[in-house]
Amino acid sequence: MRMYDLIYKKKSGMELTDEEIAFFVKGYTDGSIPDYQASAFTMAVCFQGMSDRETVTLTKCMAESGDTVDLSRFGEMSVDKHSTGGVGDKTSLIVGPIVASLGGKVTKMSGRGLGHTGGTVDKLEAIPGYQTSLSADNFLEQVDKVGLAIIGQSGNLTPADKKLYALRDVTATVDSIPLITSSIMSKKLAAGSHNIVLDVKVGSGAFMKTPQDAKILAENMVRIGKGCGRNIAALLTDMDCPLGANVGNALEVIEAVKVLKGESRGDLFEVCAELASAMVSLLYGIDRDEARARVENAVNSGAAFAKMKEWIAAQGGDVSYIENTDKFPPAEFAFEVLSTSDGYITEMDAEGIGTASVILGAGRVSKDDVIDFAAGIVIDKKIGDKVSCGDRLCTLYTNKKESLEDASEKYLSSIKVGADIPKRNPLVYEIVK
Ligand code: URA
Repeated sequence: MRMYDLIYKKKSGMELTDEEIAFFVKGYTDGSIPDYQASAFTMAVCFQGMSDRETVTLTKCMAESGDTVDLSRFGEMSVDKHSTGGVGDKTSLIVGPIVASLGGKVTKMSGRGLGHTGGTVDKLEAIPGYQTSLSADNFLEQVDKVGLAIIGQSGNLTPADKKLYALRDVTATVDSIPLITSSIMSKKLAAGSHNIVLDVKVGSGAFMKTPQDAKILAENMVRIGKGCGRNIAALLTDMDCPLGANVGNALEVIEAVKVLKGESRGDLFEVCAELASAMVSLLYGIDRDEARARVENAVNSGAAFAKMKEWIAAQGGDVSYIENTDKFPPAEFAFEVLSTSDGYITEMDAEGIGTASVILGAGRVSKDDVIDFAAGIVIDKKIGDKVSCGDRLCTLYTNKKESLEDASEKYLSSIKVGADIPKRNPLVYEIVK
């Protein structure tokens, strides 16, 4: 079998056999298929798609490309969540402690930033001392004791996805339903959790731009999860503008702390509360309203914030930064972006805003770039807000002064101001079960 022929077949819109897909996954994982052929292949998949059978085979081969985690000691209490990726999406930092404080065993392996979107592992590394890598025994012990551990894709878990994810990030091959399905579901299957909630983002800042595409992705993933015996649900949530106010790693940790302290109740809290409710509802077999009441109580009582501190400390993080977020070192340069017209914000191109944050240093342009944890954006005005000429739209933060002009232009070109109050999207479009 030759990789050349597989690329050619897929480029021509033909279906690959299970053996061919297994050959690609094995060869790319063991290094016998080089990056340039894998790039050509993933690009062909972006244009030609994959059948359901091909997607299921790709997912299974990727899940079996490395170790799998045995969570049987937690019975049916293990729970995981995964987002398809968005801008300002710090939901895992909030939802994890809420669900753990309600008795769930949250076992989460997260990714790094991808394209214009941020990654939970990068955000957590902004906390001094936080260990994103734990041995399998320590991971399980921590989940047993604290109810929550969030680590990077560890050891030899789905090595096929680890390589492909990094490659897709820099070859513009992320936004493909079969590639996202196999990437997410291979990790979820290998990570072993019995209960899984997927947050499928929809809109300008998401890889799925329309509710229709997002629904197909959600249904694909739920079908694969159920077929493998998991208790799974997917929420389609809005990503037509960044979630919350802060974009960038340390800035997002700071905002997550505010939500868990009950100091912020906007769109970010609402999406987190719905995701956490879906997880609690799967765990205890209760309806959404009862689950939501438990979630609200976890935040209002301070139990969820206490759980966040316990978790960060257990993973080696310096909790004093969580207790006093002013300790996070600020970026050297701050720049206010001002409105150039009067009216209402009618559109925000969240992908453009994510790209502005990457320009500032909050994400990677090539595989080996080092993240600037302090870089990012604090947004003042979002869709529906009234603005006058000269009002501050956002503040950009960076340690690379030369990036400010580009980032500010990118931000301004991502915002539209119009005369009429725009119609808002629902925060949660639909739940697919
Ligand atoms: N998140 C993932 O883990 N993989 C993707 O392909 C996209 C988002």
